[in-house]
Amino acid sequence: MTQLIKARQGIITPEVERLAKVEGLRADELGEKVAQGRVVILKNKQRKNSVAIAIGEGLRTKVNANVGTSPDCVDFSDELHKIKVAIAAGADAIMELSIGGDVDAFHRQVLNTFTLPIGSVPTYQTGMESIAKYGSVVDMKVEDMFEMIERQAERGIDFMAIHAALNMSIVERLKNQGRITDIVSRGGAFLTGWMFHHGQENPLYAQFDRVLEICKKYDVTLSIGDAIRPGCIEDSLDRAQVQGVVVAGELVKRALDAGVQVMVEGPGHVPVDQIPATILLQKQLCHHVPYYILGNLVTDIAPGYDHITGAIGANAAAIAGADFICYVTPAEHLRLPTAEDVHAGVIATRLATHAADIVKGVKGAREWDLAMAKARKALDWDKQIELSIDPPTARRIRGERNEEGAEACSMCGGFCAMKLVGEHLGKTGGCC
Ligand code: SF4
Repeated sequence: MTQLIKARQGIITPEVERLAKVEGLRADELGEKVAQGRVVILKNKQRKNSVAIAIGEGLRTKVNANVGTSPDCVDFSDELHKIKVAIAAGADAIMELSIGGDVDAFHRQVLNTFTLPIGSVPTYQTGMESIAKYGSVVDMKVEDMFEMIERQAERGIDFMAIHAALNMSIVERLKNQGRITDIVSRGGAFLTGWMFHHGQENPLYAQFDRVLEICKKYDVTLSIGDAIRPGCIEDSLDRAQVQGVVVAGELVKRALDAGVQVMVEGPGHVPVDQIPATILLQKQLCHHVPYYILGNLVTDIAPGYDHITGAIGANAAAIAGADFICYVTPAEHLRLPTAEDVHAGVIATRLATHAADIVKGVKGAREWDLAMAKARKALDWDKQIELSIDPPTARRIRGERNEEGAEACSMCGGFCAMKLVGEHLGKTGGCC
């Protein structure tokens, strides 16, 4: 049975029991949200060593980091290092998206090495293997697509992006409406090419019940991939995107009816003023299941700084109700990220989601800031560094231009405002 089916039967699983404590809820409250489909618990039944997380309404906003080889850069030791860096920076989940080298072996290594939830996009590996076997992605066989979903589910992948909410009607609309960037989803591009080549409906849409059967068997959380997400500000909230959300909502209903845990993926490039409407539309049409977004990237003009454009959008989106944010790194749109890019992307996204969690009233968010404020007032530098979102960076910067043992910092030195005022008020303290 899946966590969803158990929750509907009123069973408090060990995962719900533990995660309720982590999130600051009662177990029955969290169980009710799981039963409604508003919260998912990421944990494949096959994984014995993993630690589940909960994603959804009223919970801390979670952060995902993508890793994976490309055909041009196949270095699994580097990808392994990036996962370690992402975890050290505070990522809640990892999506392993390799499209070069021995993906089966790497998935096994990742699943055996790390305990946090691991996600994938099975269509990527199907496409890779299709090129090796038949010479091109568009020659993928339908059975290959479902065999790959089962293979990865059986291996222990906890959540999968499946681009099922893409059908002929959407592709036709896309063709006729004149988008600037057409399709920017890799899985969406593979499947659109396949659909045009064969003149047939997307098998993941047409045979969606087969996807559900596999997810149900292993309790894989289905993440309905956003194949049609806008790839630039100009394309945001166009007709094709909205139609994709409508189809996603229909598939969500079928997943919930089948007892499959489900979330829905969203954009992508969205101007700030359209973020609340985008989230509202998705939540309303998709039965309030968790919303998993990339970014949102709020402008197209910042290659090299897209962790910042992503963080601006992630903050607005999380405040508006997004539950799970895929990070964006400074390398987005430019090249495969390095470990340093991964670190910058995770920290930027965590800052965005934490700032949103303060607004959302998530338990523990404001308390963290209050503790920092008190440490600042006390000029307690060790405590400030300990409470920093990125302690090694805070420690390094503090050490660069301060005298050993200095009470204030080199920003104002002897004119440390709060120290002076504190002395007048008969208190010790400092800081701006
Ligand atoms: S008030 Fe100025 S000197 Fe004092 S801790 Fe803040 S920045 Fe540093």
